[in-house]
Parts: sequence; C-alpha cells; structure tokens
Amino acid sequence: MKITAVEPILLRGAGTYGSTASGDEASDNGDWQVLVRVATDAGLTGWADIETLAPAAVAVIAGQGMAVLGFKTLGELLIGENPLDVERLWDKLYVGSAYYGRRGLAMQCLSAIDNCLWSIRAQAAGCSLAHLLGGRRRDRITAYASTLFRETPEGMTAAARGYIDKGFRAVKFGWGVFGEDPGRDRELVAAAREALGPDRHLLVDPGWYPAGWKKPGPMRSRREAIALCEWLAEYDVGWIEDFIHPENFDEYAHVRLHSAVPIAAGEQVATYWEFERFIRQGCVDVIQPDLSRCGGISVAKRVAELAEREGIDLVPHSWLTHLLTGYSLQLIATLPRARFVEFNVSQSALTKGITRTSLKIEADGTVLIPDAVSIGVDVDEDFVRAHRVN
Ligand SMILES: [Mg+2]
Repeated sequence: MKITAVEPILLRGAGTYGSTASGDEASDNGDWQVLVRVATDAGLTGWADIETLAPAAVAVIAGQGMAVLGFKTLGELLIGENPLDVERLWDKLYVGSAYYGRRGLAMQCLSAIDNCLWSIRAQAAGCSLAHLLGGRRRDRITAYASTLFRETPEGMTAAARGYIDKGFRAVKFGWGVFGEDPGRDRELVAAAREALGPDRHLLVDPGWYPAGWKKPGPMRSRREAIALCEWLAEYDVGWIEDFIHPENFDEYAHVRLHSAVPIAAGEQVATYWEFERFIRQGCVDVIQPDLSRCGGISVAKRVAELAEREGIDLVPHSWLTHLLTGYSLQLIATLPRARFVEFNVSQSALTKGITRTSLKIEADGTVLIPDAVSIGVDVDEDFVRAHRVN
C-alpha cells in the first residue's frame, strides 16, 4: 500500500471563542478549523483534526518545501510511503521538519497525520484502533462536560444544572473570566460545587495565561499557585489543571508537593522525550496528552505505558471535534486504569458539524466507546465541502 495524498482541508466558520454571563453554553474556536486527510492507493483514507493556527498548517503540510532535510513539508515526506510503517514515518516526519518544527505547529500537524496513519492501519487490519493498540479493557467511560467558566455565580449554577440534566457526573470549568478577580473566582467555584452537590466531580482549569485570557500580566508566583490549590481544596476539586507556565517543570513539581488537590497537566507537552521529563520530574498526578498536539497516537501510547509504570492517571486532553474524542476513546479503551473522557460540550457550529457520528451521554454519565473499524466516528464530507475554503 502507498500514500497517494496528504491533504490539509481548511474550513471557515462564523463562531467565536467565548463564555457567557448566563448559563448559556460557551463556545470553542469556531472561526477556523483544519482537518487532514491521508489517502492511499488501496482506497483507505484517514481523517484527523488539529487545533492550531489553521491557515499556517496548510503550508506546513502541503506548501513548498526546501531542498535540504529539516526544511521539508510533511506531505512531500509521505507521498509514496507505506502508511502501515507508522512509527518509522513518525521519525521521518520529525527529522524532515526538525529545523522549523519539533514543537507547536509542525508537531500538531505531525500529530494529525500520525492519527490518520493509525486509522489506516486499523482499517487495513479490519479492526478497531483499540484492538490494534492492545485490546479493549472497557466498553464505556465516565465523561466530564468540558466547558468555560461563566461570568457570574448564577450563570455557573444554571450551567452546572444543565449538565446534570444531560446526565453528566463530572464537569470541568476552565479559563473564561477565571483569574481576573480572585473574589469572583471563589464565588464561581462555590456556585459550581453547590449546584453539583457532593457526589459529582468538579474539575478546575484556571488557565496559565497571566491574569486571565484577555490581557497580559505577571504570572502567578509559586506562593499564589499554592494558595490557589489551598482554597480550591475547600471545594473538593478533583484536579487543578494546566495553571503553571508550561515550560516551568520545576514549579509544577514544587507546587504538586504542596497541593492537596491533584495536579493535572500535559496538554502543552509534546514528544515522548518531553513527556518523560515532565512525568519523571514529578510534575503531575494526571497526565493529559492531547492526541492532536503531543505527536499523535504513536507518542500517546508510550506515554500511557510510562504513566502506568509511574502510578499516575492518564486522561487525554480533547476539546475539539468528535474526531479527536473518537481517537481519545480508543486509547482510553486500552488503559489498565481509566477515569474520564473529556467531552467538549462547547462545540461551535463548525467543530460540531465536522462529524456525522454523535457520541451520547448515557444515563449513568458514561460514553460508549465505539467498537467498530478504526475509531467508529465518521466525517460529514458534505459539511466539510460546504465549509472548505482552500
Ligand atoms: Mg486545559
């Protein structure tokens, strides 16, 4: 089998990223989205999504490469290759883009391609991705509703009640106005805990941008980070997420030693080498590789093995379309110990429209893990054609 095309597909929508003052739903990035489609001469195709600077991803995948290794575009490195050689091709893409890549945009594009190749491998084997990765240990997983902080305690209460009505047993509030006003932060968390009651999980993602997401400001000091963990512990928060500068591994390790609340992070981490440093340095209780950023399934499956050896939990970060959720669910199916799947309840019209398969919350707050060829989540190609701009 040979790869015949690696196609970045650029979509434009009318949505904006934001939270509300009321309980109305927040929204993820709905203005641009890029998908990757890898095609083969055997008629098998893989699809994946990426959260990145979408128009630039087109150049990284299918633009004009240069003559020397390290300056190649990802597509030209793959045409004619056997898609079943997934991990050899990961190495080829990494080296081929190393001068401008290694992290960020190029690694995000590499991640999507890697996921496409794993999908093709599963299709060629006629099995689910979970079966290819080692087998299914579970058929369902508790979902947490993943959304943005609302701007008022009343909005938090209404939002939390809405997720309870939909069947969720766990909710994560993140970003939005959190960090702008410490007094209000506490009121928002208190309202969420009150509405969720003592038996449902409340997770908090304060964001690591200084002073909220709208304006630049100083980072939290170590003392401020520890103080944040201390007051969140009063509300029985299940984890505090990604709230320290992503390059500052020492601070993660220090704060974790002083926090009664488990520390979750890893959505900013990429490549196995970096995950190994992050985990071995004792930075987290819950590692959160994002399959569209970390280097794809090839990296995430090795991170899962490391997490098991180190006795920490792994919950993939997945706040994008249900394609990414679909890949995440297949990895979760294989984990010896699994806690949650992140379920993006704040999808814009653009991110929601990309998949035809709807993943639903069951009465017990779980999502069924598809047991179908590849990931069991299909792209709505009519929707994609209608929103495509390249
Ligand atoms: Mg996060």
